[in-house]
Amino acid sequence: MANNEPKKGGILRAYLNFNVLYKILIGLVIGAVAGIILAASGVTALPKWISMFGTIFTRLLKMIIIPMIVGSLVVGASSVSPANVGKVGIRVVIIYLITSAFGVIIGLVMGNVFQPHAELAQVTELAAEAAGKTADVSVWNVIAEIIPTSVLQSLVNETVLQVIFFSLIFGLCLSFMKVSENERIRTISTTMYNIFDCLAEIMMKIVSGIMQYAPIGVAVLICEVFAKNGAKVAGALATVTLACFLGYAIHIVLVYGGLLAIFKIKLGTFFKEARTPFITAFVTRSSNGTLPTTFAAAENLGVDKEVYAFSLPLGATINMDGTAIYQGVCAFFLVMSCFGRGLTMGEMGMIVLLATLASIGTAGVPGAGAIMLAMVMQGINLPIEAGSVLAGAYAMILGIDAILDMGRTALNVTGDLTCTCCIAKQLGFLKADSVLK
Ligand code: ASP
Repeated sequence: MANNEPKKGGILRAYLNFNVLYKILIGLVIGAVAGIILAASGVTALPKWISMFGTIFTRLLKMIIIPMIVGSLVVGASSVSPANVGKVGIRVVIIYLITSAFGVIIGLVMGNVFQPHAELAQVTELAAEAAGKTADVSVWNVIAEIIPTSVLQSLVNETVLQVIFFSLIFGLCLSFMKVSENERIRTISTTMYNIFDCLAEIMMKIVSGIMQYAPIGVAVLICEVFAKNGAKVAGALATVTLACFLGYAIHIVLVYGGLLAIFKIKLGTFFKEARTPFITAFVTRSSNGTLPTTFAAAENLGVDKEVYAFSLPLGATINMDGTAIYQGVCAFFLVMSCFGRGLTMGEMGMIVLLATLASIGTAGVPGAGAIMLAMVMQGINLPIEAGSVLAGAYAMILGIDAILDMGRTALNVTGDLTCTCCIAKQLGFLKADSVLK
């Protein structure tokens, strides 16, 4: 009997223990090969019962978006303690947001330059549908409509920007109440914080469950894409990867190099210390997981603990420049592939806004940015619906997410360290002479 025990659930356990990102990559390859074989034998559509596995995946993703935004944004915003919001906090948050906005812009420029797209079937019929949907994206409308008239309606209609707006205010108020002098307010708001913290944790658990299912969903969705379109779509993924990595490199040189020069911090010393967190982030694909090495780098660079102990964990939660670049490139890829057109100015403005805010709500764990990409698409009125061409294109991106995530996480972490050093320098919290010009 004892001999039989390890066999029970053996395959399932082996599956669950195997690295999820490799599984998704394997799903992508299996789906692509199966799709090419089907296309070669003249089969362009999968039986309904097989397509269902892809549909289940896209529905699971849609299911998680709103509760995930609410949970992670409320917790993110309320984690900024008012005591630290003072001169350090406000500066750090502003510099984080500005660098993320630059990231999205660089991503969109990369998208426009490289025009990554896969020529997917059904373009024309969907293009007409999209043209109707996006016609009313005007900046002034968008700004005014960020404010919900009914929070419940925003949640039910999944109006992403309104949900983000309300969650941020809610979180900020909570952060002030948590340290109130009134004990009753302190107690109830701490309870409320714990509830949202728990909600965010539950959502992350669900996401990791969905990610266990992702290889199957991705395989089926990719198989459909390749069966309909043949092997020619593979080159498009290489272009997406190139556009993202070039964007990451440009961001390091222009934005970080520029900031360090402006704040008169020695580039050589900075990048020598930033190397360890950079590599750790590249390998672990988690800003949070990299925190111990980012702390050590900040310490070696002579940043006062008072600053980095606050700004680095905050950055790992809310500052995602690499993710922002990725959102810009991928949003372009999705729209171009599915609707045969580039992004409109209105959509690009909206993406800058959404992706910058989304970086606050993106958890510093592997793959979180890909879920936020689904949210950004929802925000520009092009939701990833089950069975749509968009879902197929999104699955293509998800198939190479492991590779894209390595680069974007490394950039996210380098960004946290750069901004921390600059603010510390400005406020006189940078001790070592070695990093000062
Ligand atoms: N993995 C990234 C990070 O930890 C988040 C993302 O998926 O974009 O920073």
